[in-house]
Amino acid sequence: MKLKDKVCIVTGAASGIGKEIALTYAREGGKVVIADLNKDAAQAVADDITKAGGTAMASAMDVTSEEQVNAVVAAVVAAYGGVDVLVSNAGIQIVHPIEEFPFADWKKMLAIHLDGAFLTTKACVPHMQASGKGGSIIYMGSVHSKEASVLKSAYVTAKHGLIGLCKTVSKEGGKHKIRANVICPGFVRTPLVEKQIPEQAAALGLSEEDVIKKVMLKETVDGEFTTVQDVAEVALLFAGFESNALTGQSLVVSHGWFMQ
Ligand code: NAD
Repeated sequence: MKLKDKVCIVTGAASGIGKEIALTYAREGGKVVIADLNKDAAQAVADDITKAGGTAMASAMDVTSEEQVNAVVAAVVAAYGGVDVLVSNAGIQIVHPIEEFPFADWKKMLAIHLDGAFLTTKACVPHMQASGKGGSIIYMGSVHSKEASVLKSAYVTAKHGLIGLCKTVSKEGGKHKIRANVICPGFVRTPLVEKQIPEQAAALGLSEEDVIKKVMLKETVDGEFTTVQDVAEVALLFAGFESNALTGQSLVVSHGWFMQ
């Protein structure tokens, strides 16, 4: 088991990519905290883990609320004794051409992706320092941390910003063995992407099939979606990698859509 008794907080873990990471970490022996806006769905994931013999707790958390983030991290430390792994994964998508992008939606996007990453990092780092063991912080970036697409100004801006945060946390964390890395998935068929297909079809004047083939998967080497399992495997690698040799990095998992 690669994460035996490691305490792992995963935000946005009630659905999609975060849920698969939580299930994978639990199978590898982690004590997993399913932190999500959707408490009922988070509880269902925690129950599935517990039924399968793992250890998990569900926590209601809006990652944009400093008070809620701090309260959940304090409760986790009280229950499990510390924090070893943070996966800052909660995210949403809102698409508009820039000239029509409502300022409120722009601020919401930056708050969930960037404030959320900052607040959860700030809350966990002192515990990783105090334990003397350090820890692993993983940000859920995107190919859009490296590349742009039309209609996604806020998402692309936020996902690029995570790379800067990751590099800074890596430099500050080095002496405490706190590593930080970014995972950059291509399109994964989660509820977040299912919602975008009709939205992009309407905005671009294409059929939904063409949005998938000619927009989302056009640049991949094989026309395939990345899967939640693909992303969870990378999240396991970063979480289980114990030395500072692997820090400040961003790894693209996208069927070759973006190559660096
Ligand atoms: P999803 O919609 O399946 O899951 C997102 C989860 O985040 C939901 O459970 C939701 O309740 C939670 N959430 C939303 N706002 C929150 C908040 N303020 N506080 C706490 N939880 C909140 O989406 P997903 O596709 O699994 O996306 C997860 C992450 O992966 C996001 O950061 C997304 O940008 C990123 N990502 C997704 C894809 C993709 O193609 N699906 C590709 C690259 C990156």
